[in-house]
Amino acid sequence: MRHLLGTEGIDPADAVAILDTAAGLKQSLEGREVRKLPTLRGRTVITMFYENSTRTRVSFEIAGKWMSADVVNVSSSGSSVSKGESLRDTALTLAAAGADCVVVRHPASGAAHRLAGWLKDVGTSVVNAGDGMHEHPTQALLDAATLRERLAGGDATGQDLRDRRIAIVGDVLHSRVARSNVHLLTALGAHVTLVAPPTLLPTGVGAWPVTVSHDLDAELPSQDAVMLLRVQAERMHGGFFPSAREYSIAYGLNERRLGLLPEHAVVLHPGPMLRGMEIASSVADSPRAAITEQVRNGVHVRMAVLYHLLAHEEENA
Ligand code: ASP
Repeated sequence: MRHLLGTEGIDPADAVAILDTAAGLKQSLEGREVRKLPTLRGRTVITMFYENSTRTRVSFEIAGKWMSADVVNVSSSGSSVSKGESLRDTALTLAAAGADCVVVRHPASGAAHRLAGWLKDVGTSVVNAGDGMHEHPTQALLDAATLRERLAGGDATGQDLRDRRIAIVGDVLHSRVARSNVHLLTALGAHVTLVAPPTLLPTGVGAWPVTVSHDLDAELPSQDAVMLLRVQAERMHGGFFPSAREYSIAYGLNERRLGLLPEHAVVLHPGPMLRGMEIASSVADSPRAAITEQVRNGVHVRMAVLYHLLAHEEENA
C-alpha cells in the first residue's frame, strides 16, 4: 500500500490487516508508562490541514510521535497557503523538504487523489484525512476497530463484522464519514442501513449496497450499532430540514430511542457532537456510547496506517 485515499474498493484483507495491527499496537502499548515505539524513527510525517479539526489532527500527530516519526503540522492560516500558494506547490514544497508521508485534510472532494498524482514520482505517501464530502478513510477504520472491540466483547483480534447490522443516521448527504463507512463496513460483510430525511440523502443512493429508511424508531430494534452523523451546517446552502428541534424529534438519539436498541448495541458518533440535536447528552455520556473509545482507537488505527504505508514495505524489501 502506497497511499490511503479512501475505502471505496478497499481490499478487505488490507482493511483487516490494518485493524489487526491497530489492535496489536493497542494491546502492546496499554498500561505502559512510555508509549513510544522505534518503528518510524527517521521518517517524517507532515500533516496539512486546510479545514478545522481537533480529533483527526491531534491523533495523527500523537500516532506519528508514538511511532518515533518526526511530525510537522502545517495549517493553511499559518503557511504560504494564506499568501495564495496552490495546493500543488505546497505539496511539492513539503515533499522537497523531506516528507515521507503527507496527511491532508481539504474542503475539496478529490484533493487527496490530486495530491497523490502530483507526488507520484517523489515517493511520498498520501493519507486522506477528509476531503470535502467524499471520504475520511481513517475515521471508518477507527469506527470498525471500535465495533470489532465492542461487539466481540473486548477481544478484537480475529473478529470480523460479517452480518452485523449498523445504522448510519442523519446528514448522509454531506458526510464523508458516512461514505467511507458504507464502503468499509459493507466490504467487511456488515449490513448498513442509512436513516435520514430524503433531503439529506445523496441522489443515486439507490445504487449503494445499503438499505435506506426514513423511520429511525422502526430500524433501531434490529441494529447492532447506531452511528450518528453531525449535521454539517458549513456545507449546507439552504434549508434541508425545518428546524433543529424538528430534526432532533425525528432523527435525534434520545433516552427513549436508546431503549429501542438491543442491549448489546453500541452508539457511535465521529465528533464533533451537537448535543441535544443529533444525540441527547445522557445518551452520549452513557456506557452504551463508545465515543471516547473511538477517539482512543483513532490513535492506534492511525499508527497502524502509518506503519503499513511507511514501515511495512521496507521490512518486506
Ligand atoms: N470529524 C468528522 C469529519 O471531519 C465528522 C464531522 O466533522 O462531522 O468529517
